[in-house]
Amino acid sequence: MPTTAREIHLASRPQGWPTPDDFRTVEVQLPDPAAGQVLVRNTFMSVDPYMRGRMNDVKSYVPPFALDAPLDGGAVGEVVATGSDDVAVGDTVLHQAGRRTHALLPASAVRRLDVSRAPATAYLGALGMPGLTAYVGLTRIAELREGDTVFVSGAAGAVGSAVGQIARQLGAAKVIGSAGTAEKCAWLTDELGFDVALNYKDSPIGRQLRGHGPVDVYFDNVGGDHLEAAIFAMADFGRIAACGAIADYNADAPVPGPRNMMMFVSKRLTLRGFIVTDHADAAGEFYRRAGAWVADGSLKYQETVVDGLDHAVDAFLGLHRGDNTGKMLVRL
Ligand code: NDP
Repeated sequence: MPTTAREIHLASRPQGWPTPDDFRTVEVQLPDPAAGQVLVRNTFMSVDPYMRGRMNDVKSYVPPFALDAPLDGGAVGEVVATGSDDVAVGDTVLHQAGRRTHALLPASAVRRLDVSRAPATAYLGALGMPGLTAYVGLTRIAELREGDTVFVSGAAGAVGSAVGQIARQLGAAKVIGSAGTAEKCAWLTDELGFDVALNYKDSPIGRQLRGHGPVDVYFDNVGGDHLEAAIFAMADFGRIAACGAIADYNADAPVPGPRNMMMFVSKRLTLRGFIVTDHADAAGEFYRRAGAWVADGSLKYQETVVDGLDHAVDAFLGLHRGDNTGKMLVRL
């Protein structure tokens, strides 16, 4: 019997900040799964900054979203019908066909989750792609060493909150984070064990960072003023992991680069960009270690949940405004 599903399509390519008119909700009928397929009722979908880049028609590390087609993205859900011997009705699975209430997928495109270890939503956050991004950025890109001072921007977000805590687990001596509200900063220091949390909206981040360095590792989620401030604060031979530049994502013209690039020479700095999907081979090691950290409370996480597919666009815009603490999710 066909299943009625609702999906969010990209109606037009946003210029600058997206608006609700750039999206359309479409109802479709999904057939029962054929042999080798599964039908998943999505329960939560991930809301991620990288989705903004995919709305532009530009060549990048992933193809742009097509117009008038469902948007995708990480999601978890429950299998409600199956044509596969490997995946059973009732299994909780992770997959990439979010932004819709139901997804019909090849069984090979879903990963069964162990929900006795952690709730399904954790696999979209601390135990999922954002957590792996933090781990890879610290270990492989910034080559974190014991005793390092680490600064992370976007520190109260999904990636940033994992960065600070994982850095501590891996031997960082001092962890500094920046975030956009006093409540987020209090969460970082009072609950996650950051040594210093700076509210970048209080006064220029460069001025606030002075006196807390020198910084050995900067994990950059923001770009813009944060990157320039970090370069000023870096120790000689410091390493910068370029993970994202959310300050630029909704700009309608190119954002100027840091004005202090000569410091790369004088301080002998390294900046290296990375994309987490190039590091799938680190996933096994990460899940093993992060699972233990979550279990013993040394990797804590928070979720901000928006209810309903109809509010998915609000959640996406809210993510860019800083409405989330920890991982931004939509409950479906
Ligand atoms: P977050 O959970 O961190 O959410 C985004 C946060 O960015 C907001 O909550 C907001 O918090 C902050 N923000 C928004 N605008 C600005 C601004 N102008 N200046 C400073 N902070 C701002 O998202 P994720 O953890 O999912 O992603 C964090 C970063 O990591 C992004 O840049 C993303 O693109 C990148 N990323 C990169 C990957 C890779 O493979 N390289 C993989 C996954 C993510 P606040 O209130 O503090 O402003």
